Amino acid sequence: MKLAARVSQVTPSLTLAIDAKAKAMKREGIDICSFSAGEPDFDTPEHIKQAATDALKQGKTRYGPAAGEPLLREAIVRKLQRENQLTYKPENIIVTNGGKHSLYNLMMAMIDPGDEVIIPAPYWVSYPEMVKLAGGTPIVVKTTAETQFKITPDQLREAITDKTKLFILNSPSNPTGMVYTPDEIRAIAQVIVEKDIYVVSDEIYERLLYDGAEHLSIAAVSPEVFDRAIISHGFAKAYSMTGWRVGYLVGNVDLIKAASKIQGHSTSNVCTFAQYGAIAAYEDPRSNESVELMRQAFAERRQAIVDLVAAIPGLSYIKPDGAFYLMIDISKFGMSSLEFCDGLLTEQKVAVIPGIAFDADDHIRLSYATDMATIEKGIDRLATFVKSKL
Ligand code: PLP
Repeated sequence: MKLAARVSQVTPSLTLAIDAKAKAMKREGIDICSFSAGEPDFDTPEHIKQAATDALKQGKTRYGPAAGEPLLREAIVRKLQRENQLTYKPENIIVTNGGKHSLYNLMMAMIDPGDEVIIPAPYWVSYPEMVKLAGGTPIVVKTTAETQFKITPDQLREAITDKTKLFILNSPSNPTGMVYTPDEIRAIAQVIVEKDIYVVSDEIYERLLYDGAEHLSIAAVSPEVFDRAIISHGFAKAYSMTGWRVGYLVGNVDLIKAASKIQGHSTSNVCTFAQYGAIAAYEDPRSNESVELMRQAFAERRQAIVDLVAAIPGLSYIKPDGAFYLMIDISKFGMSSLEFCDGLLTEQKVAVIPGIAFDADDHIRLSYATDMATIEKGIDRLATFVKSKL
């Protein structure tokens, strides 16, 4: 079939592909240790499920406003004030089908052919593809272990041209697990204002911080950067709600109106009763305890996985302080990340993500959003694989 040209410009999601292969092997009865999925292994907290069930029973089953249920938009306004000291109105918010869709809407609403969007690598797989789908040009800036895989203000400044429209910031980061310190955020904000470009801050892992790491939303740095900042967020990671598909975009009223127009002709409103679950996630006081229990479990697994990997000769990493990913340097093995991952899956039945998916071919990414038994068994198998290749 003759398909649209835009399709050929887009690379299929490698992370989803590896995950699918591992799941298929699992279905065949093969004992797979999977570190590939970017989703918590916990169930959604009971009170959130109850709120959605109640909404369903009360007949919240009809079309709603394309931009989201007013009650949820108000709950998001309160969350941004309470947790981020940011003052917005409901008109500044559109509820979307997950954080992925909020970013997609943003690109569609903001990016014209020829516009450049700066993306630090290693990056979340979908950023460059979304930019390309919108007709824009992704400008990838490679970061290194020396700066903990964080873009420096100088690197950002150098990458900006008169075509630059947007910079994508993701802290805590997928895939690196790094968190920009408040001072680093302030320094980046200075460049945004000085060069008069926009920044979208993907804060989906905001609640998953360890070892005292602090999250500062770039929008909160100054009124000048507030005017140039857009926030992309969602309920998937902190509340274990990946399948619910609820996220949101926060920004200037004109941008949100434009995104609502696009959403009104594409997906329309997010599933109505799912939005009531999201309201409970932000408004029910039991959520704090649920999130904290999950965060603590991730913190324990993180410590366990870094200790186990540290004992394997030939592998190195920077200890992550956010999200639930560990990125490991495999450059000593002389293999591409795809060769490494394919070998590991075939020979040792361990599924991890090849760094090529996020423009870091000398790395692999492990998600430790899995149980401790899988971590112990899987890293033991990784050690066996590595030993056979050195
Ligand atoms: N942003 C980042 C950095 C992510 O890792 C993900 C999911 O993996 C998303 C956004 C989108 O999440 P969702 O669409 O499930 O809300």
